[in-house]
Amino acid sequence: MKGHITCTICPVGCRISVKKDGNEYVIEGNKCARGKQYAIDELINPTRILTTSIKVNGGSCELASVRTSGPIDLSIIREKMKEIKQISVDAPVSVGQVIVKDIDGKGVSLIATREVPLRRSETTKNGL
Ligand code: SF4
Repeated sequence: MKGHITCTICPVGCRISVKKDGNEYVIEGNKCARGKQYAIDELINPTRILTTSIKVNGGSCELASVRTSGPIDLSIIREKMKEIKQISVDAPVSVGQVIVKDIDGKGVSLIATREVPLRRSETTKNGL
């Protein structure tokens, strides 16, 4: 097996070649050690931070941006996006609020990254 990966850890963007030689990976082209680990992780268990938005009921806007609190397996991102599309939360939403605890089964949560206050009419109705 042989291939190339562009390291995205820093702006240098090294083009790293990866070759499997028996049970060993031969990594070349990385200018630092972080690139080696990045290449191995990308091969064995690629992960990504998932960012998207969810519906908000009764908020000053209809959507709140969310992201995972850490990287999750790339292989489950599509499935999780489908699940997240079905989710809605009631306003108010605060930054850092946990929307889905342990979304990946490994302890990573989905958290809000945007504050969404109650819609003005909802505030009046609730006497706030
Ligand atoms: S290998 Fe090191 S220097 Fe190259 S892009 Fe990755 S982090 Fe940056």
